[in-house]
Amino acid sequence: MKIKLLGTAAAEGIPGIFCNCDICTYARKHGGKDIRTRSQAIINDKYLVDFPMDSYMHSINFDINFYDINHILITHPHGDHFYPQEIEFRCPPYAHGQEGKLLNVYGPGSIKELFPDFPSKQNQDYIKFHKLNAFETYYIDELQVTPMTALHSRDFECFVYLIEHEGKKLLYGHDSGFFPQETMNYLKNTIVDCVLCDTTYGKKIDGNNHMGVLDNFQLRNLLVEQNSADEDTKFILTHLSHNGELTHKQLERMARDNGFIAAYDGYEHEI
Ligand SMILES: [Zn+2]
Ligand SMILES: [Zn+2]
Ligand SMILES: [Zn+2]
Repeated sequence: MKIKLLGTAAAEGIPGIFCNCDICTYARKHGGKDIRTRSQAIINDKYLVDFPMDSYMHSINFDINFYDINHILITHPHGDHFYPQEIEFRCPPYAHGQEGKLLNVYGPGSIKELFPDFPSKQNQDYIKFHKLNAFETYYIDELQVTPMTALHSRDFECFVYLIEHEGKKLLYGHDSGFFPQETMNYLKNTIVDCVLCDTTYGKKIDGNNHMGVLDNFQLRNLLVEQNSADEDTKFILTHLSHNGELTHKQLERMARDNGFIAAYDGYEHEI
């Protein structure tokens, strides 16, 4: 399974769109891996996970023609993960050649609760929303996908995902604090090959809505203890906020010293 992270920031990006803190100032000056756009991933070059406001930029910067995308998994309806206005451009007269080609969008029922008009009436031949239930396994083209509950918004349902392909297992673990017990129970005795960790709070501690690096270390211990991860499981730190007060280099040092990987926009990993 090939995983490419197109964006690795939390809601406001790094630099934060209106922010002038030290981390954002550093990012503007140094560019490169310190610039982080809103979180999105592509699996095996054809399945998108999340659709933030930076999706257009990702398609240009990474030369991905969204014309070819037929499946998008959504974790939850926060704007940095689901930006429906942009998805609606997948129909005439905004897009041509999509006739008879359905774009399938999958996610928690909260998507429909918050955006009852998605997809809009005139686009229903082009876009279909599939409500997924937590802890049910779905076959989405080549992928096997199990949504699990996240510890994130208290107002609506949010998912993390277990994504499987040819025996390889990816735990798409953000946005979430420490996973709810039901999710930990579901993962018990299933060794995953890779975990994408929520590292929003960087050097700070959280665990209730998001995590920091130290929370991520603790998460690994919890997963190893219950036989959901072993010494070969790769832990990747992503979904960073400037409020976590770490430059990419500082994050990389903390990650490397503990056997973790610090992601950046464009980071690729094969499991
Ligand atoms: Zn987020
Ligand atoms: Zn800032
Ligand atoms: Zn969120």
